[in-house]
Amino acid sequence: MQMELPEEKIRAIVERVVNRISTQERLSPNASASATPMVFGGGDLGVFEDVDEAVNASTAAFGHFQEYSFDFRKKMIEAIRVACHQQVDLISRMAVEESKLGRYEDKVQKNILAIDKTPGPEVLLTKAVSGDQGLTINERAPFGVIASITPCTNPTETIINNSISILSGGNTVVYCPHPLAKNVCNYMVHVINQAIIQVGGPPNLITTLRAPTIDMAQNLMTHKKVKLLVVTGGPDVVRKAMMSGKKVVGAGPGNPPVVVDETADLAQAGRDIVKGASLDNNIICLDEKELIVVSSVADRLKQEMLNNGAYEIKGWQLKQLEKLMLTEDRGPRRHSVVNKEWVGKDAHKILEAIGVQVDPSVRLVLVETDENHPFVWSELLAPVLPLVRVSNVDYAIKLAKEAEHGFGHTAVMHSNNLEKLSQMARTINTSIFVKNGMAVAGIGFGGEGHTSFTIASPTGDGVTNAWTFTRDRRCAIVERFRIV
Ligand code: NAD
Repeated sequence: MQMELPEEKIRAIVERVVNRISTQERLSPNASASATPMVFGGGDLGVFEDVDEAVNASTAAFGHFQEYSFDFRKKMIEAIRVACHQQVDLISRMAVEESKLGRYEDKVQKNILAIDKTPGPEVLLTKAVSGDQGLTINERAPFGVIASITPCTNPTETIINNSISILSGGNTVVYCPHPLAKNVCNYMVHVINQAIIQVGGPPNLITTLRAPTIDMAQNLMTHKKVKLLVVTGGPDVVRKAMMSGKKVVGAGPGNPPVVVDETADLAQAGRDIVKGASLDNNIICLDEKELIVVSSVADRLKQEMLNNGAYEIKGWQLKQLEKLMLTEDRGPRRHSVVNKEWVGKDAHKILEAIGVQVDPSVRLVLVETDENHPFVWSELLAPVLPLVRVSNVDYAIKLAKEAEHGFGHTAVMHSNNLEKLSQMARTINTSIFVKNGMAVAGIGFGGEGHTSFTIASPTGDGVTNAWTFTRDRRCAIVERFRIV
């Protein structure tokens, strides 16, 4: 399904999206055959100049959408999946080029994951209870217009994932993407709207802002027509959304620890940790961020990691790396200030910047540190993994709990001791806990279960799906309709 496109063609497409090609030029012949007007409310396939325009268009679209059947929602979601598949190569390249974060080949896999494993309307099952006094059913209803504020780290993945979930719930959505990834997000919104229109749906079910800013995000948070906020990002944006007085699905930061004990399969652990901690250059919130290993197996684990694409640095090189990666060291066991310039960059480029030349096939920089080191306590969002040796598994679990900062996001353990696996699962108390796999197995990447790019730990919604974006409505029929 994917198209291979040369660099100059990609640039030309980005240019066209930014410079707003005419609506007519963008619409396919099929789309113009639709009875529904293509564009209204001043928009252009969902891309608007200001918050009021976007919210008004979304409100009008919600009015239309309520007239459509549940079966139409299923058909529309399938059309969105097909349209997004056709763009995977392009959007993965655009995202890396625009945001300067991550790896193209990993973004391809992440986009495919979002397209294929975000559940559709089928998760909205009706609950029924019957008895002597009749029948009561609980159905899942839409909220209406939802605002979604999205990160630069998974720009298109979040738009694809949120659009499928939110529209499956019967809502409409107004996006405010991260300014660092606005062009690729505008393009994504354009593609999804086009797919909806082509199967006969109304325009503007999803809308976005052409040049989003923090002020616009804050205006959306307090807009009276917005019924629910979905916020995916760091601590500031989640805190701000919580102050809005609206219902919030808040997906905040993580600092996922990975613990390895003496019973682990070290070959598997070494392979999985390197792959997981370097996936998209570690900008995914649930990628492994610090490694805590029982000392009796630490050297063997290290060797397995070096065999699988990690490169270890020590001594003066570690000092150089600290200077490069942190703009402020806030001291032991505290989150330091991370240098944004190196977020999401390739491991070999980070090493080159401290004077170490390695082959580009190196995916991860491994550094052994003491447990107080700022790399352990800071979300670096880069392929640099601190390794801490500890005397026993109980202490490893205790340290992991502290280093996770109580975010309740994600944690991983490699072990074959069932008792200790259960102990860590209970103690760490995260939305996602992965045993003997990569952290991303917890969002269905090499693991079972559905995916989401909005893991809402602070608000307790966990790995979100269409159910998250619906509200419960009950209907009771008294003294009738029990058939047994
Ligand atoms: P970010 O917080 O800088 O930005 C996220 C979004 O919030 C952007 O659209 C940004 O413009 C907006 N924003 C930021 N501060 C704001 C404020 N004060 N008021 C209003 N809007 C504001 O995050 P990022 O760099 O794009 O993404 C990385 C962060 O997001 C990491 O901390 C990562 O762990 C987290 N994240 C979490 C999840 C999850 O599912 N829990 C998913 C992806 C990213």
